[in-house]
Amino acid sequence: MMPPVFRFAPSPNGYLHLGHAFSALLNFDLARESGGRFLLRIEDIDAARCRPEFEAAIYEDLAWLGIAWEAAVRRQSEHLSDYRAALDRLDRLGLVYPSFESRAEIARLTAEHETHGPWARDPDGAPLYSGTAKTLAPEERKRLEQSGAPYALRLDMAAACASVSDLTWTECGEGPGGEQGCLAARPQAWGDVVLARKETPTSYHLSVVVDDALQGVTEVVRGQDLFHATSVHRLLQHLLGLPEPVYRHHRLILDETGRKLSKSTKATGLRELRSAGARPADIRRMVGFC
Ligand code: GLU
Repeated sequence: MMPPVFRFAPSPNGYLHLGHAFSALLNFDLARESGGRFLLRIEDIDAARCRPEFEAAIYEDLAWLGIAWEAAVRRQSEHLSDYRAALDRLDRLGLVYPSFESRAEIARLTAEHETHGPWARDPDGAPLYSGTAKTLAPEERKRLEQSGAPYALRLDMAAACASVSDLTWTECGEGPGGEQGCLAARPQAWGDVVLARKETPTSYHLSVVVDDALQGVTEVVRGQDLFHATSVHRLLQHLLGLPEPVYRHHRLILDETGRKLSKSTKATGLRELRSAGARPADIRRMVGFC
């Protein structure tokens, strides 16, 4: 039997904090206990926010924690052609369309809709895209495409879901509401998600499923904040013919006000804790390992 494959996939857009330490240590420990492999992936597609010094700090902080990963680190920015190929495949299935509204315009349109009543929001609380660009006349779409205007490439969720029934995943951890076991995926809750943008030729959802498949990841162990995103990931895996990993969503490390930790909160940053004298064993204790 092939050994299970785990991964930790941070974005180098800030320094690691206790929440990252918990996720990385949990993945690393589970891999070790099960005789599995542990991979590191750098999710650096957002060129505007990711910086080399944050990436260097990730390696340093993980090594300090006593975590060892396989030598080949996958850096997403070096694999844009893999995501392009997946996007082309979805496009050939007729499931991708461009939308041209800016984020500010979408916010304005949502506020306008909301004057007439509630407007649906995705599990992260963002308003669903109305789908107006789907009904653009072909000449207008062409004109906008040729104008060089910024655009987002979106998944036509209704069309994508039409080809699927009974999409599920195996949850070995726990969702935010205690969900476990064989769970029904509900990608519709996200609406027409963005798969790529003019300036970033992929998205979190697309690259994560492509990478997990290409890296042979069999166990996705990550925070409960990504629990609902799993529905979109399962749909993309189905559409792209990719294997299905098992999922284990873990509790989040919260601050004293009950909020998710942020990369800018110094008190829980690994670097700050280390310079204040904390040792790796203290970090393990602080995140709840005995
Ligand atoms: N890069 C994501 C993050 O830093 C994690 C992605 C995942 O584990 O699926 O939150």
